[in-house]
Amino acid sequence: MNRPKKRKRLLAPREEIAWFPMIEASHCNGCGDCQAFCRPGVFSPGTPDPSGIYKAKMSVANPFNCIVLCTRCEHVCPSGAITLPHPQDFKHFVEEYLD
Ligand code: SF4
Ligand code: SF4
Repeated sequence: MNRPKKRKRLLAPREEIAWFPMIEASHCNGCGDCQAFCRPGVFSPGTPDPSGIYKAKMSVANPFNCIVLCTRCEHVCPSGAITLPHPQDFKHFVEEYLD
C-alpha cells in the first residue's frame, strides 16, 4: 500500500504572494552561483557592464517562479547579497496536505 505523500498548496494566486528574493546590487559580484543553484530559474544576469571589466550583476528575472517559503539561495550567495522576506509573514499562504 502506498503511503500518502505530504504536499503543499498555495492559498492565493502566486502573483498575489510577494515572496521572492531581492539582490543588493552593490554587494553582487555577478558570480552566477545563485542562478546555477536555483532550479526554478528565478535569476538571470542583468545589464552587461559597459566597460566589459565586471560581470553583469544578477537580476531577479522571474520572481514568481520562486517557491514560496524557500530560502536556500540566501545561503548560497558568497556576498550576502540575497535577502528573502520573513517566512513567518508568509506561512498563511501555504497549506500542507496529504495526497
Ligand atoms: S528562494 Fe529558492 S526558489 Fe526562490 S530564488 Fe532562491 S533558491 Fe530559487
Ligand atoms: S550568488 Fe550572490 S554575488 Fe553571486 S550572482 Fe548571485 S547575488 Fe550576485
